[in-house]
Amino acid sequence: MATLSPVGTLRAFAIPMRIPFRGQTRREGVLLHGPAGWGEFSPFPEYGPREAARWLACAREAAFDGWPAPLREVIPVNVTVPAVVPERAHELVRRSGCRTAKVKVAEKGQAFRDDLARVEAVRDALGPGGAVRVDVNGAWSVEQAVRNLRELGRFGLEYAEQPCATLGELAAVRRAVDVPIAADESIRRAEDPLKVRAAEAADIAVLKVQPLGGVRAALRVAEACGLPVVVSSAVETSVGLAAGLALAAALPELPYACGLGTMSLLAGDVTADPLTPVDGAIAVRRPEVDPESLAAYEIDAPAWLDRLTAAGEFE
Ligand SMILES: [Mg+2]
Repeated sequence: MATLSPVGTLRAFAIPMRIPFRGQTRREGVLLHGPAGWGEFSPFPEYGPREAARWLACAREAAFDGWPAPLREVIPVNVTVPAVVPERAHELVRRSGCRTAKVKVAEKGQAFRDDLARVEAVRDALGPGGAVRVDVNGAWSVEQAVRNLRELGRFGLEYAEQPCATLGELAAVRRAVDVPIAADESIRRAEDPLKVRAAEAADIAVLKVQPLGGVRAALRVAEACGLPVVVSSAVETSVGLAAGLALAAALPELPYACGLGTMSLLAGDVTADPLTPVDGAIAVRRPEVDPESLAAYEIDAPAWLDRLTAAGEFE
């Protein structure tokens, strides 16, 4: 903790969510400033200090070390289609400008025919050249996943994200269907992608920089696990998203669109130059914190200072 920035450079924020995410209606965190720029520390409320330590390492890398040089200038991103009616799904995709859509399926209270109708509408909106992926958030059993993915397969799926909860289930589904499988919730710690690979549970790893401890740590994880990577956000402000963008820009290969187009989930940002996609891609850059934008969402820092200090003990 010796190099922790002085309290004067910690700025806590709370930004309302346009659509509740993980049961949250506000996205909270703290920004810290160092010689390399601003970093974001925004672990979700249920994360204890041991887990939050990795999120802190990511913020400190951003503030104190900076990131490896980018290998590409733009990062294609997917539009995320929530569990909405087909007409709305169609419109969302058309308006996004994205060539890849991630469709949420298996929503509580909905039937599989709702998923089918939504995926069909999204395929129609993208045309045959677009890529459609589904995100199940671990909700299906192996039997459901095999049956449902075979049916959805007729719309041409790029991959299915976390169709089941456990590695054993993912591996069983992967053996039974032709649709590639991506692991998301199964990867929360640096050692997880290796377990995914060892279990032959997925074809693709979804990686997020904050839970993995920063851009360099995530690059090491990607190299060690050897699977193609989709970089996804933890619904950060543009300060946090810039770290995800830096990872996507530094990966030796980037075969898929990333899940970094999440600024639209927040009602505001701490920069005047948000990392919002244009024509389905985000230009690699690192926007400055804008004092006026930050002032609109700033909250008292003490609770976040406590969380940051507690996390620092485990770094
Ligand atoms: Mg997911």
